Amino acid sequence: MYGIGIAKGLMVTMKNLLRRPFTVQYPEQRLPQHPRFRGEEFVWYVERCTGCASCAQFCPLGIIRIVTSPGGEHLQEGGTYKVEVFDIDIGRCMFCGLCVEACPYDALFMGSGFERARYRREELVVTVDELKAAKKCPSTWFRPQLSRQGYNPFLEEADWRRVGREESRWHPKRPGTLPPGHHSEASSQGS
Ligand code: SF4
Ligand code: SF4
Repeated sequence: MYGIGIAKGLMVTMKNLLRRPFTVQYPEQRLPQHPRFRGEEFVWYVERCTGCASCAQFCPLGIIRIVTSPGGEHLQEGGTYKVEVFDIDIGRCMFCGLCVEACPYDALFMGSGFERARYRREELVVTVDELKAAKKCPSTWFRPQLSRQGYNPFLEEADWRRVGREESRWHPKRPGTLPPGHHSEASSQGS
């Protein structure tokens, strides 16, 4: 009985010896990330942001700090606030994406990066200047139309006009809301 157990154990070892390894030699080798990966560097479109702070209010960890002043340079519909401070403490972030979902102006997106090792915790706070200067390569998470377009955040930047929330007229279950040229069972029954 004892010998059979050893033989079985060796069989498992031999089987795994012949398998291709699942791991890579990071950082020399890197596995490709999925475009919907929710990464650490946030993508913020300042020209879209009104400073409403909905993102900060909905963050369950309270790690977004926004300070605005009236009469700012970003004239938006219904407000003229300048965003003075927009800090995100990503050292505490759990990348849930609720701040992105809560943004009513499609100004905030998850990023695609995952390498931000620092010696000090305070260096993990992303500041408004960093957000402004960062490349605009949003994750396709919460933006399925980007996936359909084949957009890859690891290869290209995206203008804010391209990354807005998907319009409700695309909803397949709403009669008469599909784009011209498309017909569904529901819309033909309703006409
Ligand atoms: S991803 Fe979640 S935890 Fe991180 S800042 Fe946004 S709401 Fe907060
Ligand atoms: S990123 Fe969106 S939710 Fe946050 S302050 Fe700007 S407009 Fe408001």
